Amino acid sequence: MSAQRSPSEVARETLRQLALRRMTPTPDNYSKLYHEIAGSHANDVTAPKDFLHRLSYRLSRDTPEQQKAVRKFDEALNAADPKMAEEALWHYLDGLKNVEAPAWNELIADLLRSWEDRQQGWTIARKRESLDRVLAASESTTLYNRLQGLLRGWSQTPLDLAAADPEPAEDIAAVATSTKSTAVVLSAGHGRDLIESFRQLLSSTLRDVVPSFLGAHPELADEAQRLADDVAVTLEAAQLEQIGARIRRLAHRLEMTTADDAEIRGGLLQLLRLLLRNIDDLVLDDTWLTGQIEMLRELIDAPLNPRSIDDAERRLKDLIYKQSQLKHNLVEAQNHLRTMLAGFVDQLASFSESTSTYHDRIGTCAQRIAQARDINAIGQVLDEVMRETLSIQDEARRSRDELIASRQQARAAEERIATLQHELDEVSRLMRHDQLTGVLNRRGLGEMFEAEAARAQRRGTTLALALLDIDNFKKLNDAHGHEVGDEALIHLTRVVRHHLRPQDVLARYGGEEFVILLPETGKADAYNTLTRLQRELTREFFMTDHQKIVITFSAGVTPVNAGESMQPALSRADKAMYQAKQAGRNRVIVAEPS
Ligand code: GH3
Ligand code: MG
Ligand code: MG
Repeated sequence: MSAQRSPSEVARETLRQLALRRMTPTPDNYSKLYHEIAGSHANDVTAPKDFLHRLSYRLSRDTPEQQKAVRKFDEALNAADPKMAEEALWHYLDGLKNVEAPAWNELIADLLRSWEDRQQGWTIARKRESLDRVLAASESTTLYNRLQGLLRGWSQTPLDLAAADPEPAEDIAAVATSTKSTAVVLSAGHGRDLIESFRQLLSSTLRDVVPSFLGAHPELADEAQRLADDVAVTLEAAQLEQIGARIRRLAHRLEMTTADDAEIRGGLLQLLRLLLRNIDDLVLDDTWLTGQIEMLRELIDAPLNPRSIDDAERRLKDLIYKQSQLKHNLVEAQNHLRTMLAGFVDQLASFSESTSTYHDRIGTCAQRIAQARDINAIGQVLDEVMRETLSIQDEARRSRDELIASRQQARAAEERIATLQHELDEVSRLMRHDQLTGVLNRRGLGEMFEAEAARAQRRGTTLALALLDIDNFKKLNDAHGHEVGDEALIHLTRVVRHHLRPQDVLARYGGEEFVILLPETGKADAYNTLTRLQRELTREFFMTDHQKIVITFSAGVTPVNAGESMQPALSRADKAMYQAKQAGRNRVIVAEPS
């Protein structure tokens, strides 16, 4: 019978029973009674569900086996099937034992050796370019595999490049260029060689390049492999014609699948948008969360690139983390309130019950006194009145004591909520985004600086850093109030973000100070960017109470030296910013690298 009840019905019944059985409304009692009524067990798989979901989220999915095991684990969690969850986890752990640790030492030694070696068709610049592409992979197993592929590629002649170049998307270009150069060299009279070269090229394209795009379509990948084998051994014209027809058929099917894949990608994005739109309803009263969701929406509405997906992932992680914290606290606070309310109602009910009985009895006594014929009868009735009065006094005292106890409980609950609030503030401090403006905070900036500086060093490109400080912000606060000041900060970040490139990084460094990282930007361009932002800010002024407020800032800009950490660059920019203030504000000054 209880299996049919909805959770909210069970919860209501639990509260009623708590009051009815006069049990102390502790979370433990609530939980015990809840499971008794629901006919469930306190240690169901649902109890540590959040933990298990977090665990699943952290498991790596590098190999198909791991992906399979984690998928199974997720299914088990969704189906609340502890047995299946356990099996999936064992499966995953067994798989880990069989994974050999990548031999990084050997790989690095090979890389160094190959870097020095001369290989046909591989200049140092070309090697660097291919290495750069491979280093974009952040996950260690993927990186290891791709580096190995790269080494194989370097050891082969350009004709075989397609077979070994580790980035499929660029492979097509590599094949195209090598095809062109081959044709030029071989048209000098080696007709036979030319055909042979094309045959090899076609075969390796079909064997190694095409299937790498077809992870989700094994039957097409198989057909490509078969074609590759046939091309490798066939030279007769008749058979080649047949192979040509098969290649055209494969190309047609490829075209269809690519269209399908694009549609699926579009559909997934649409789903994500829908999800984000609806999350808003769940988190109405947390402005930070709403702001983050808004930014996620902007991110996925813009053309996607690895950086924006990276950014979206970071924001989503913060979002999930903070929401789980909030949810947990909220549920706890709600439970407290519920049990306390039940207690109050219970006491109120019993109190009013006893007082109304008292009134009834006293009423009867009054009647009996009116009808009494002798003093004896009146004495008996008075005794009764005394007894009733004493008992109601008792009742009142008891209720008072219980009310005092409840008040103490309420205070304890209040204190608990305050502690939780404090903990939540601590947690927020550990996050990467500023609560007010949604841009990165110092911690987030530190991480982004590391990533951008490493990227710049790998690619041999420049990176510029700017520090800007709003002019006379204190006056704005004094004149319009702190809240308007806050709005002005949000306005500034909105305008600045809107006029930066997607790869530029904006962070709130402190009160009214912001840092901007500009990848692949020299000092002249960085200076121009900052002055452009100043112009945009005067154009898109800030409105409050129908009053225009123009926000200006002073900024210091500096190139980041290769291998330099953030602090020295920041202090150069800070000095330049100070000079800009000294020189009259609303200007940008460039600090030379040290
Ligand atoms: P200067 O042009 O020299 O930079 O003058 P200033 O008034 O901007 O600089 P100052 O350092 O004297 O004052 C900064 C002010 O910024 C003081 C502080 O109250 C305000 N502030 C810092 N953080 C916030 C915030 O989060 N919200 C609001 N509304 N004000 C803030
Ligand atoms: Mg300041
Ligand atoms: Mg200032």
